[in-house]
Amino acid sequence: MIDNNYDFTLIKAGLLVDGNGGNNLHKASVLIQNGVIKFVGNQESVVAPEGASVKVLDYGDKTILPGLIDCHVHLNGIGDGRVGNDLVTLPDEVLTLQSAKNARKHLYSGVTTVRDCGAKNNTTFMLRKAVEMGITISPRLILTGRPISIVGGHLGYFGEEATGEVECVKSVRKLIKQGADFIKITATGGSTITSLPFRPSFTKKEIQAITFEAHKMGKHVAAHCSSSEGIINSLDSGVDTIIHGYHVESDETFNYRPEITEKFIKNGAFLNPTLFQGRKTVEVLELKQNQGYLTRIESEMLETAKYRNEKISEIVSKMVSDGVQLACGSDASWTYYKTGDFQSEIFAHVSVGLSPMQAIVSATKDSARSCWIDDKLGTLSENKIADILVVDGDPTEDINNLRNVVDVISNGEVVDRENFI
Ligand SMILES: [Zn+2]
Repeated sequence: MIDNNYDFTLIKAGLLVDGNGGNNLHKASVLIQNGVIKFVGNQESVVAPEGASVKVLDYGDKTILPGLIDCHVHLNGIGDGRVGNDLVTLPDEVLTLQSAKNARKHLYSGVTTVRDCGAKNNTTFMLRKAVEMGITISPRLILTGRPISIVGGHLGYFGEEATGEVECVKSVRKLIKQGADFIKITATGGSTITSLPFRPSFTKKEIQAITFEAHKMGKHVAAHCSSSEGIINSLDSGVDTIIHGYHVESDETFNYRPEITEKFIKNGAFLNPTLFQGRKTVEVLELKQNQGYLTRIESEMLETAKYRNEKISEIVSKMVSDGVQLACGSDASWTYYKTGDFQSEIFAHVSVGLSPMQAIVSATKDSARSCWIDDKLGTLSENKIADILVVDGDPTEDINNLRNVVDVISNGEVVDRENFI
């Protein structure tokens, strides 16, 4: 909501991290008009035009940086450990309300934009409607609605299964008609019971039909890939963001394939590795183990998750050092990873070799680039939307300072976080 009582808002802070990855600015100011950044600079140089009325927000020695952009969320999710096959049995009304709750938690924790990578039926489109009506608040929403899946494939239970190029194109057009900002596909199986996690799903021709149609309509495509063949099919077909992207063969063995990295670099595609998702599972199950009530199935899950996390970290570290660009997305609230802790995924990026500054860029500028919104979001620069996070301490020195949220500013206005739940 724009405050019409003032012509400008002037934000002052001890440190400014602009999201571009360059030098920080000390004693900085940002001048905002109608929710848009007009000037960024040191406090002496940034002044409003003479005679203009100015609201000043002086944050003293605090740090300002771009509002965080989580490029992979599931607003439908509950984060209590239930799998997608169980989540989807809940009625749309409940999932829409849960989505509203998650959206608010994202915003309160410093995330000013989310890309939702798959929800049941029209639940997220309904959330958007409620936000537009002022019924609830949320970060900026980049929606796919329903992910496109093969029959019985991963996330097919959300309601958009397609077979053959004609049906794939039809699904893209239908979703865009309903309000999709991008297209999410599942290029391999996953946790969905009827799917084959380490096998490709769509054919290359089907993926090509999807990306061609989406790109033609100005929309990007993100693909869930939990095996190497799925990554290759997707990158060869022009997919823009690869989700998970682990180098796994169809017999479940991890095997780093340099040609995948070459394809990433050649295409300029982003990898959203969702590192914390598996680590959170280990955290929760180890807690249960320590409390002495881990079931046999959970105990097997724990061992598998520990092994996979180790292998995934190794492979993603190698991809990073070989030049693959990461976009930061949490995958919350899927399985055990609850909404409101995007910071843990940012910290996980540091664990695979990014500096704190690079990790921040992956969660701001590069996340915006992967969502095709970097013309208006992702950095504190002139003519961009004033979505700003205020934290205590310098997060480029110690990334943990990202958790010290002081204020969240969306569209140039401070978000009222009083009613945090
Ligand atoms: Zn996901």
